[in-house]
Amino acid sequence: MSSDRCKLDIVVERYDLDEFETLYDSVDDRLLSRWTGKDGTSSDGYRALTEWFNKRLLKTVYDENGRDTTGTRVESDYAVLTGDKELLREEVRDDLRASGINPEQVQQDMISWSTMRRHLNSCLDGEKQVGGADSDWEQRSVDIASKVAESKVKEALSSLDSAGTLPAGTRANVGVQILLGCPDCQTRIPFEDAVDRGYVCKDHFPVTMTAEGDD
Ligand SMILES: [Zn+2]
Ligand SMILES: [Zn+2]
Repeated sequence: MSSDRCKLDIVVERYDLDEFETLYDSVDDRLLSRWTGKDGTSSDGYRALTEWFNKRLLKTVYDENGRDTTGTRVESDYAVLTGDKELLREEVRDDLRASGINPEQVQQDMISWSTMRRHLNSCLDGEKQVGGADSDWEQRSVDIASKVAESKVKEALSSLDSAGTLPAGTRANVGVQILLGCPDCQTRIPFEDAVDRGYVCKDHFPVTMTAEGDD
């Protein structure tokens, strides 16, 4: 749908990730198949797919630099790199540097849950069939609302453009983001980030168990 390439597209190209895809035609093919569950297996949610993607990235970098990937190496390094244990993380980073890997670069190239969501819904224009257990329906209904808002804004821009009120306004990229605000303080956070971390405001909302294993 969108002709812009997102971060995920760029990372796939930069690291030749399609080259390493053996089960499916491409990374995109795998993501769509796993997301929709169309290959006959149960479907994965955004979080599981994001994790898969980032681990694949890590493994590719390890392979290229001759860092051992046997056993649970990639799994455990990934957990440490994305975890909140500062000292452990620095240790793994030093370890990576010793193998000729730039840990900051790799971490920068890891994608977020919301990038995965946008990639599947916008770049790939994917649609997940509503089946039995559809764990993503809340997010999808917010996505639909955003898409409707976006198209309404574009209509308005086109009219403002032809009226000369906002010349070339149609050239603008329109981004719609649903923000959740805390009623008790200034905290504002994108809807998907709140769902991802499990709370709206750390100080004024109950904090649930975060991120781990939603599927
Ligand atoms: Zn994309
Ligand atoms: Zn608050």
